[in-house]
Amino acid sequence: MYSQPALHQDYLPPHLTTLMEIDTQAIAENYKTLCSLAQNSSCAAVVKANAYGFGLQEVSSLLQQEGCQDFFVAHLEEAIFLKTTLKNANIYVLSGLLPETAEFFVNNSLIPVLNDFGMLEYWAYEAKLRGKKLPCVLHIDTGMHRNGFDRKDTEKLFSSLEMLTALEPKIFMSHLASSHDPKDPLNEQQRRLFESLQTQLPSMKASLADTGGIYLGSAFHYDMVRTGKGLFGLYPSDSLRPCLNLRARILQIRTALKGESVGYGATHLLTRESKLATLGIGFVDGYDRRLSNKGYVLIQGFKAPIVGRISMDYTVVDVTDIPESEYYAGSWVELVNDTLSLDMLAHEIGTISRELSTRLGNRITRLYR
Ligand SMILES: *Cc1c(COP(=O)(O)O)cnc(C)c1O
Repeated sequence: MYSQPALHQDYLPPHLTTLMEIDTQAIAENYKTLCSLAQNSSCAAVVKANAYGFGLQEVSSLLQQEGCQDFFVAHLEEAIFLKTTLKNANIYVLSGLLPETAEFFVNNSLIPVLNDFGMLEYWAYEAKLRGKKLPCVLHIDTGMHRNGFDRKDTEKLFSSLEMLTALEPKIFMSHLASSHDPKDPLNEQQRRLFESLQTQLPSMKASLADTGGIYLGSAFHYDMVRTGKGLFGLYPSDSLRPCLNLRARILQIRTALKGESVGYGATHLLTRESKLATLGIGFVDGYDRRLSNKGYVLIQGFKAPIVGRISMDYTVVDVTDIPESEYYAGSWVELVNDTLSLDMLAHEIGTISRELSTRLGNRITRLYR
């Protein structure tokens, strides 16, 4: 896979056109903050989707240094890759077991999240075959209706608990559907159902809360919380810090006349003679095309609106109102920073910040500070 090597120094080589600066201290602090909010629980990191776009290896080894011992990814291939970085951590695979994958879990010491009775039978069979107890997580659906044991399989599980003796069931978990909205009664409904089931399995650790669940209060914390977006400040709380600064360079500056148009489809007509700057970033880099004619970038703190359609490699901004001393061909502009957050961009185009962070492209150089 083509991707730019990450930088670990302050010096910006002149060949770069786009840059994602990732504040590792902010991630570490967010982790500590989330741990202290759930101080009686252990705090697992959810690092699926390349750690929400911020870099699986870099983020995971940083968190391990901060004392994190439990890491969740979505799919098996992510876990196999992560194992090469984290030799001594618990790595859980949320998607669970698919046919013929058991040996990959065993050989890489990965822990499957068992999401239905079939997965449980398969894992118990493998354990007997190998003559050793295999570790696992049991995921019960309490209202999300996406992953986890459904009602029927949950009943089956509780009437055949002896199956668990072949295994080493580490965690009993469920996932909240609406934790971002503290007012939604579904949260408490899920929590009660979870608790009623969980108390029948006292030997297993219990885990229910994602980042939103941490903020719902200690009743939701149980033995382990699982935080993803909070690590990166992608959750609306004053206690968390954003960690991303996204920049691109101005490639060219031009003047165009009143009545002329900008970009593909001529979707923006200039209402005055204008100065335009062309930036070396486009939708292939994950700079979302829905920001066309809507978003803005910051040039030394000045707002420069996006004009015309964002194309594959380029974005044009209007710099007419910005003092000329503030920019030149080759200077850097900011597309995301502490005051212009991913959440703001996402809100502008009716999506969530994780959709944007996870799509930031491989062509962008990552700089870890
Ligand atoms: C993604 C995920 C999390 C983490 O969610 P955040 O909202 O990013 O904290 C936790 N648990 C499960 C099952 C998930 O799929």
